[in-house]
Amino acid sequence: MIPAVMPTYGRYDVAFERGDGVYLIAEDGRRFLDFAAGIAVNSLGHAHPHLVKALQDQAAKLWHTSNLYRSSGQERLAERLVAASFADTVFFCNSGVEAIEGGIKLCRRYHAAGGNPGRWRIITFDGAFHGRTLSALAAANNPKYLDGFGPKVDGFDNVAFNNLNEVRAAVTDETAAILIEPLQGEGGIRKADLGFLRDLRAVCDEYGLLLFLDEVQCGMGRTGRLFAHEWSEIAPDVVAAAKGIGSGFPMGAILAREEAARGMVPGVHGTTFGGNQLAMAVGNAVLDVMLADGFMERAQAQGEALYGRLTAIVRMFPEIFHSVRGAGLMLGLECVVPAGDVVNRLRDAGLLTVPAAENVVRILPPLIIESSHIDEAAAIIERVAADWGSRDG
Ligand SMILES: *Cc1c(COP(=O)(O)O)cnc(C)c1O
Repeated sequence: MIPAVMPTYGRYDVAFERGDGVYLIAEDGRRFLDFAAGIAVNSLGHAHPHLVKALQDQAAKLWHTSNLYRSSGQERLAERLVAASFADTVFFCNSGVEAIEGGIKLCRRYHAAGGNPGRWRIITFDGAFHGRTLSALAAANNPKYLDGFGPKVDGFDNVAFNNLNEVRAAVTDETAAILIEPLQGEGGIRKADLGFLRDLRAVCDEYGLLLFLDEVQCGMGRTGRLFAHEWSEIAPDVVAAAKGIGSGFPMGAILAREEAARGMVPGVHGTTFGGNQLAMAVGNAVLDVMLADGFMERAQAQGEALYGRLTAIVRMFPEIFHSVRGAGLMLGLECVVPAGDVVNRLRDAGLLTVPAAENVVRILPPLIIESSHIDEAAAIIERVAADWGSRDG
């Protein structure tokens, strides 16, 4: 008999009851160090007092009014994101894939508004993940996720990651934009070379394309800067953000430069729930913390410390681990043994992580971790690695 919860996930047999900072407590009382953070979502950990208060205060006042009316919460959050980034304007939605979908529409409208409606195709990359709508699946071109859903949505030309020759060869007079994750998450913590991102910017300038970055996972402080592209010093035209932006409250955002958003006039795009008062209260509270002096520097320093510890562990256990990769607090442990087994054993030992492609264990702690959490996680990983053979046979 089909479970009441539609079985689209293979779920681990643990249910959580509450969270406390970097810890999750299960219904059966077990305590876990959470280096998964709901897949890079709980950027400020669980039950952060400033966020709890913002949500409770807002909940007693007003939840939702619709985008038919002005929203001072949206105006405030948009102005703060604009002040802190490359962007001039922001559209609020509810999820990562909605930000991608809306960003694709924005790119196509940009060319239509410029008198070139025939420019609508988007160049994308292998190993990408952009979410689960039909067009986001077509963009990422992962056969595993496309199987059984009929003809693939047209309009995407998928090329090899970090390969400029393939990008140049894919540009035609129908090309509208290039869409890329500066640091691939699901794809296995694969970094776009900083030089490659700069080259993409140059290709976009040369052919009049928009550079559209998917920072749904790597944005909002995950790599130690508000947005990962800041490391490359390029200015994108469009960025999709979500995951960490609400630290667990569902929300997403499309950030864009003014020129790129020239087609986004009243009536061309919308959402019922996007940017409601609850989401904006939490989003503003998240920024209060993230934009405070020293927050990003501390996250970055903890990322470097964690990277160092993981590197030492890889050296100690070459029969288990191959390498460490990533940036800031978006790290990947490339495994020799099956990464899924490593995730399971770490969870049994009290540490939550997330599997990814290329046999990688993703390590995505809340950005508020302290040195003691790194010590605790490193001890668990070492213990699991040291015991590997004894439980293997
Ligand atoms: C998670 C993710 C998405 C999709 O976000 P949803 O909120 O699940 O729709 C898109 N792009 C990237 C890079 C992601 O990691």
